[in-house]
Amino acid sequence: MDIFDKFSSLQFRSDLVQRLGVDPFGVKFDRILNASQGLIGNREILLAGTNNYLGLTFDPDCMDAAIAAINKHGTGTTGSRIANGSYEEHVDLENALAAHTGMASAIVFSTGYQTNLAAIATLAGPKDVLFIDADSHACIIDGCRLSAAPTIRFRHNSPADLDKRLTRQGEIKDGIALVVIEGMYSMFGDKAPIAEFVEVCARHGAYLYIDEAHSFGIFGETGCGLAQAEGVLDKVDFISGTFSKSLASIGGFCLSRHKNFEITRKAMRAYMFTASPTPSNIAAARAALDKIASMPNLRTALAERAAQLHSGLKALGFDLCAGAGPIIAIRRPNEVLAATEWNWLLENGLYVNLAVPPGTPQSSSLLRISLSASHTKEDIERIISIFTKMKSNSGALMAKAQSVLQAGTQ
Ligand code: PMP
Repeated sequence: MDIFDKFSSLQFRSDLVQRLGVDPFGVKFDRILNASQGLIGNREILLAGTNNYLGLTFDPDCMDAAIAAINKHGTGTTGSRIANGSYEEHVDLENALAAHTGMASAIVFSTGYQTNLAAIATLAGPKDVLFIDADSHACIIDGCRLSAAPTIRFRHNSPADLDKRLTRQGEIKDGIALVVIEGMYSMFGDKAPIAEFVEVCARHGAYLYIDEAHSFGIFGETGCGLAQAEGVLDKVDFISGTFSKSLASIGGFCLSRHKNFEITRKAMRAYMFTASPTPSNIAAARAALDKIASMPNLRTALAERAAQLHSGLKALGFDLCAGAGPIIAIRRPNEVLAATEWNWLLENGLYVNLAVPPGTPQSSSLLRISLSASHTKEDIERIISIFTKMKSNSGALMAKAQSVLQAGTQ
């Protein structure tokens, strides 16, 4: 028995897509020119799959803040905050996040993934019960796996199904129910009916945790996310998010309306036993938070581009997974055709995401687009014209996918 035998079916799928040209899961950019353009070799690529929703990675203030933090503190923290202490920037960002959202407590983490891992695994103990949406992100699922609490899944975006399951669960002796949902879902770009979830949780005395990774900075009057957009931010117990999308950096945060959340710093293993975010990451996120607060026009621009692209792709007859929003996912009939098209799009100067099972709901194969406030109206027109061309080449693309599939299975 070879140690890698268990990866043979994954190897088969990987070999198959590599025969199409560039490996969609290993693409290398030689240079990123700005938030919406990159270079592969000397070919300019329009970036439409970066999650750089507000385009702040090249904002001069965010860049200057990161550079200043390196000059002040060096390149890394080289340890965890529990063992090696915090920097002024960590504390300042936590205070700013709490103040901006009106939450009582804020903790920052080294990635968004670790945020959910740490918070969910720690907040739910052996006597508690976790209720999670069926389409939860991998890091929510992994947080549940690490937690000692049993996990119950409810139907995607269904407060009624959650209600039924909480009723069936009944009173939890010496424990609590913790419900975990997301704001906007990363693959289809659909939004949770948050106010309805708040109502169900309140009726059952359950705590509500919302991952706003894809919605923080983008929705709500001051960019606090979908809970704010629905007017229920103050009723949500925990909000998590990431610095790797609208906040133009890397790291994550969890906020709580409960002051006592602070104590979990000394219990969360994925906080205690890993190095804290670097000074430059934190400083960039801090500067981006200021932009979220002071530049609502970024949210308006993003919404306008989203509406423009959504109606353009819809008019072309594409099967779109949700309404207009910064994530626009196009459902494709199968993985090999989606990968063939993905390669064709890259050859034609457009980078989007190829999303396939197990990372997608309903085992779907998707061409996933994420938009940025830095996209211009002309960029969106270009995306639509590239997809128009792709449509007119559909016969040839299907034939190519078929031949690669046949060669792979022979
Ligand atoms: N939550 C959701 C819903 C995500 O989509 C992601 C990553 N895309 C994360 C958390 C993890 O964030 P990070 O990349 O900062 O680890």
